[in-house]
This record gives sequence, C-alpha cells and structure tokens, in this order.
Amino acid sequence: MTPSRPAPAAPVRLSDPVTRLRGVGSQLSERLARLDIRCIRDLLFHLPARYEDRTRITPIGALRPGASAVIEGTVLAADVVFGRRRSFLCRVQDGSGTVSVRLFHFSATQRKQLAPGARIRCFGEARSGATGLELYHPEYRVIGDVAPALADRLTPVYPVTEGLSQQRLRSLCNLALGLLERPATGNADDLEADIIDALKLLHGPTPEVSLGALEAGSHPAQQRLAMDELLAHHLSLLQARRRMQDHSARPLSRGKDLLQRFRESLPFPLTRAQDRVIGELSRDLARAVPMLRLLQGDVGSGKTVVAAAAALIAAGSGAQTALMAPTELLAEQHARTLGPWLEPLGLSTALLTGRQRAAQRRQQEQQTASGAAALVIGTHALFQGSVDFHELALVIIDEQHRFGVHQRLALRAKGEQTGQVPHQLVMTATPIPRTLAMSAYADLELSVLDELPPGRTPVTTVVVGQERRLEVIERVSAACREGRQAYWVCTLIEESEVLEAQAAEDTAKLLGEELTDLRIGLVHGRLKGDEKARVMAEFEAGSIDLLVATTVIEVGVNVPNASLMVIENAERLGLAQLHQLRGRVGRGSTESHCVLLYQPPLSRTGKERLRVMRESNDGFVIAEKDLELRGPGELLGTRQTGLVDLRVADLLRDRDLLPEVQARARKLLSQDPAQAQRIIERWLGSRTQYAHA
Ligand code: ADP
Ligand code: MG
Repeated sequence: MTPSRPAPAAPVRLSDPVTRLRGVGSQLSERLARLDIRCIRDLLFHLPARYEDRTRITPIGALRPGASAVIEGTVLAADVVFGRRRSFLCRVQDGSGTVSVRLFHFSATQRKQLAPGARIRCFGEARSGATGLELYHPEYRVIGDVAPALADRLTPVYPVTEGLSQQRLRSLCNLALGLLERPATGNADDLEADIIDALKLLHGPTPEVSLGALEAGSHPAQQRLAMDELLAHHLSLLQARRRMQDHSARPLSRGKDLLQRFRESLPFPLTRAQDRVIGELSRDLARAVPMLRLLQGDVGSGKTVVAAAAALIAAGSGAQTALMAPTELLAEQHARTLGPWLEPLGLSTALLTGRQRAAQRRQQEQQTASGAAALVIGTHALFQGSVDFHELALVIIDEQHRFGVHQRLALRAKGEQTGQVPHQLVMTATPIPRTLAMSAYADLELSVLDELPPGRTPVTTVVVGQERRLEVIERVSAACREGRQAYWVCTLIEESEVLEAQAAEDTAKLLGEELTDLRIGLVHGRLKGDEKARVMAEFEAGSIDLLVATTVIEVGVNVPNASLMVIENAERLGLAQLHQLRGRVGRGSTESHCVLLYQPPLSRTGKERLRVMRESNDGFVIAEKDLELRGPGELLGTRQTGLVDLRVADLLRDRDLLPEVQARARKLLSQDPAQAQRIIERWLGSRTQYAHA
C-alpha cells in the first residue's frame, strides 16, 4: 500500500474562516467571534481604535500629563514607599529631566532590575502624581549598552475582548495583512487597490503619518474607508428595501369615501401638511408593492390623524391595520383617541397589550382574528406569539425612535415569509436632520409633517436652579388655582424604573405636603396597566390638577388644559427627550410654560442644552443642535446599533460624505450588484448573517 500523500492545501482566501490561520483553534475563534471577526477578511476590517507612538524617544523634560510616550533614562534612586498604598518608586533621569516610575505590585526581581544605575526604556502614560509626573506600571525593559531598535510603525491598539490580548490580535492582523502581499493566490481579488493601501496604512502607519490626523479621523486612508463603510450600510438598507419590493402587497385603493367622511367628522380641518402626506400615503397604498414610508413630524404635528387616515384607506379596501406603539401608555392613548374617531364610521378597534387580563386579552384577540376589528392597536406584544390577524395589509409603527433598525427589519422578515407583505408606515417625532435620515432610513421613503395645527401657542421655557424650587412650587399652585393643570416630571440618570418610580413617589409626597389644596396624581412605569390608565383618565377628565410623573409620559399624553410642565434635573436629559416631554404642553389655546429645573453646577454642555431649549421650540433646530452636542449615536437612539456601530466612519464627522454615499449606492446597486454585495459583506458580512439567523 502506498501511503497517501496529503492533498495540497487550497490557498488561504480572505473569505476563509479564521481557523485557517496558523494557531487559531476553536477557543480563539470563539473569542474573535465576540468581536464579529469570523473570516480572515474580518481581521483586516477590524481597525485600530487608536495608536501609540513608540517610534521615538521623548525627552523626559518634554513629557506632558495625559500623553503616552517612550522614555529612556538611568535609575537615580529606587525605594519602597509607604503612602496610602505601598508602592515601589524609582526616579529616572535623562539629560532633560526626571520622572517617577511607580509600581504598586512588584517582585523582588523587579526591585533588583530597577536598582540605581540601571538604564531602562519605558512606555507609558505620564500622569500628575505625588512626586510630579509619574508613570504607573509602564511597560519597561532594562537596556544594555546597545539600545534596542525602536518600533518602525505606530503601534495599533485594537478593540479586544476577554482572553484575547492586544499582542495576539496584532499578530493575527499581521498574518492577515501578509496574505495581501500575495495577490497571485487570488486573495485580494475582491478588494480594490486603494482599499488595500488604506487598510495596510491603518494597521501600521509609518512614523511620518500624522497621529493628529489619525486621531481626528481625517487621514485620507480613514476617509476612503469611511466612505466604503457608509456605502456598505447604505447599500444594505437599500437592498433590504429592494428585497421587500420584490414581494407583492395588497393594493388598498377603495377607502376614498371613508376618508371623506372622516374628514367631515373631525372637529378641525386637516393642515396642508397632513393633506399632502395623506395624499402621498394613498398613492403608495394603492400600489401592489409594499409601501415603506417614514413619517417625520414634530411633537404635536398631528401624526395620529394621518395614521387614522391610512387605517381607513385599508379598511375601505376590506383590510386590517395594526398600529404598534412603544409603550402601554401610548397604545392605550391611541385606543382612546382612535376608537371614537373610527366608531361613527362603523369601524371598530381592538387593543392588545402585555398587561391585559387573560379574559380581556382573549376577547380582543378574537376580535382581531375574526376581522371584526379594522384596526388593532398594541405594543410589540402585537407581533409576539398567538396573535392572528385577519387580512392584515398595513402595519403602522409609532415613535420609531424607540425601536431599533433591527426590530423594524425583523418585523418585515416576519411578513416576508408569507409572500404578500403588509404596507408599512413608520412614524417618528424625532426630527432627524435630512441627510442623516436618508442614511438611517435609506430603506424608507420620507414624508414630513412640517406644519403644526393652527392655534398652538408656543411654549415659553425658563431655566431655573434647584435653589428656587419653592418659587416653582408656588407657580404650580397659581396655575392650578386658575383652573389649569400641570405636570411635574422626575428624572434620574440611571435607567432604573424602580429608582425612578421611587423618586416620583417621594416627589409626589413632598409636593402633596406643600400643595395641600391640589389634587395630585402619580404615574410611573411600575404602576399596573389599569392603575396607570385610571390616573391618566382622571388627569384627562380634569379631576387631577397636578400629575407627578416619570418620563413614561414622554409620548402619548394629550391634555390640552395642561399648560405648565416642570422637569426636574433637566440637565440630565438629552435635547430630543426634553423636546418630547415639553411637547406635552402647548396643546391648547392658553399660553404654556415649561420650567427646566436644574441641579447646579451645570456642565458646559448642560448649560448649552438648556439654552437651546429656552431659545427654540423647533424640533429640527433642536435636532441639529443635539447632533452637534451628542453625536448621532445618541440622537438616533443607542438601540439602533445597526447603523451607529461604525468602525471608521462617524456619521457626524463624515456627514459631508453622505450625499455622495447615497448617489454611489444607488448607481452601484443597479450597475454592479456583485460589487455592491462585496462591499456589504466586507463591512457587515458576519453581522448581517447574524441578524438573519
Ligand atoms: P403627534 O404628531 O405628536 O402624534 P397628535 O397626533 O397627538 O400629535 O396630535 C396632537 C393634537 O393635535 C391632538 O390633540 C390632535 O387631535 C390635534 N390635531 C391634529 N391635527 C389637527 C389639526 N389639523 N387641527 C387642529 N388640531 C389637530
Ligand atoms: Mg404621537
């Protein structure tokens, strides 16, 4: 028998799993997967978060606090010192000055190495300490007469994970980079030459590359990759859109009469903006491809009427609509508003929330399944488990900013399985600057309600320090004595419903002691659903004067007689949230006020934020400002990680690239879909697979 020769190994390709690299086994590959690194290409696109400059020696006299540097010098003195914590301290000197190296954990060997007279080279961050500038636990080595060579590149510092050292990741990235040097194996065939150059540069910049430019993200290599990354995100959303539009949807075109009767039954004429948007919707809905439309409208712009109109168009065509709200409170509020609008037109609604009692829930589910309900309102509970719809042809998602991109896409995927998919209308009150919106929602058409219903009186906002709390309480009392109502909103930094509820309870109690003649209500996230609904109904009916609440009232509360809102610890909230909250007042014809109560001292951004709130009532102005102050991650909501989790690009910094990204994406998708696919895969490959799993 001739011993079988092992088959020649196939050349390693960038798309191969990392386990094809020497020394990468299943344990390491699992750790890499935590960083979304699955194939070899993913290593190339795992870019350094920052760099260290170990290419040159900094004179000790030139060290600055906060900066990391390589120094070389002679140990002058070394001793164990007993401060608050025992430490080993050695003074190191070169011709230009002295600095201390301090070790809190040290061995006898280290004490011997760092004895007076030793020449050492250290790398570390200089900080101000007890003896002047100090380096805590720097990396160090004792050097002989011949100093070892310095690094010839800036040292990349990668995002790492537990059990995976910087050192290990660096050598893996180097292995992957090495594969790029052998294009003969066909490895690099899917990467453009300038992308390869940019990747090589960013994994190991030569010393001439400006660290400042790298830190600012303005280096041409970063800009090249940022463009590519934004393109990938944009393409993937456009692709999701095309995939949806490969499906058919039920054309909804027979609701004109119902819509007309609805208009006539409303106590107010529609605004021109509402008219226009309803027109846009009805054209979309009449088509046999699924509508995918985002409706942006500032708080109070009247999005609910538009939602009702869309539901009527569906109902007129014999189809059912589902309306999904982010909170129970908002779902209930919608049911209370939409029920009375639809009933006179012979249509009924169902409400499905997670907190309903079993019997009630069953009954509402039955209304839904039989089609007796033309409009089904609920929280995300709508799309979980046992709910059967009847001829569901339209899904409306309210306050999109509370949900993530992934949730939106997941909802869609649910429809995709059935062949015919529902039309989708996504509504948001978070006004996103247009270029950003185009990127965040590239898969959606955009409608804007850019006009508020007439008769609104702008809210006057004042900013007041906690020390004037008593005056504010007096103001609440005066407003309520005049027959108006007020909100007192309690906020906390920690996202803890329990603590927040506790704070609201305490505040309600204290205010109750001060304002003995007022009827005070309390609502927070920990109340049972029906209890919350009862308090809200009482406030709406006017039998509660002052509503103490947590931020649960951010959306979905509509009491025109409430004309005063106090927001405690306003400095802790973001602009978007403050704007949402403030939108609860100014809904009637009396002049409304908002008091932003803050805890001094204010940080610079805190001050700036409150100033913006005082000076503007315009959601778009506020959004632009928010973007500047906080960056798009927070503006779009941290939950929307799908978009915001960018590696090199930064939506705010690179927003100038967005128009070109949009144009290129459209062109690429129609002219070179294979290339589009490659770009998506290199940036999002393993992540999109994840999302679809
Ligand atoms: P949002 O866009 O914040 O969801 P709503 O739909 O809750 O706003 O509407 C806010 C208030 O404005 C509601 O009381 C609603 O009845 C009222 N409204 C809506 N459209 C008009 C209109 N065209 N004229 C007058 N009031 C309107
Ligand atoms: Mg609304």
